[in-house]
Amino acid sequence: MSELNVGVEPERGAFQGKFVYVKNFKIDTIVFSAGFVPFCNVPVCRANCCYWGVYVDLKEREKILAHKDLILKFMDETQPKDVELWFEKEEWEDPDFPSGKCVGTNVYNDKCVFLTKEGYCVLQVSAVNSGMHQWALKPFYCCIYPLTFWEGALTYDDDHAEDLPYCGLRATHNHAGPVIEICKDEFIYVLGEDGYAELLRIYDEWKKLKNK
Ligand code: SF4
Repeated sequence: MSELNVGVEPERGAFQGKFVYVKNFKIDTIVFSAGFVPFCNVPVCRANCCYWGVYVDLKEREKILAHKDLILKFMDETQPKDVELWFEKEEWEDPDFPSGKCVGTNVYNDKCVFLTKEGYCVLQVSAVNSGMHQWALKPFYCCIYPLTFWEGALTYDDDHAEDLPYCGLRATHNHAGPVIEICKDEFIYVLGEDGYAELLRIYDEWKKLKNK
């Protein structure tokens, strides 16, 4: 993609291969072209993205278990009250997690143990109802979806999106724009306001070059 590698100071973030760089983050330019829905419409999609559970950092598991009494108050009859059933037993090495290790949430009643029957994340419900930030207990990779990290790069989770009929890869009829424009909160969560503003500047350059 050398035709994109023009007129952009490296320290400002340069197009290199299919990646651009903002602060210390390597970002896949797929986020400029992949589409997404205007918002997560849970009554329509039924939180389909949560059916398989998620991998969480070991520190996140610790934090969730430290709040188990609060979380239990908001779980419904489709969710396991036995905390031993919340996470898989096996831990995995993965450099895309801060501690270098992760563990999966269990699937129970065909959905992530933390998904309520209405399609909401009980970790978010618990946090909001106790005056915490909405994402205080929610796993990082759930907060940033449809973004993810893969081999050190911030990217669009095309693998997960493959199987999602409402917002996924094939649901272009529901898409309202590219991920870079729609998922502002998710980008800011990762890059900060200044990092997102920088990425938008690079995106403008990318659009100009693409339309030449
Ligand atoms: S932890 Fe919450 S947001 Fe993440 S997959 Fe489970 S229910 Fe969904």
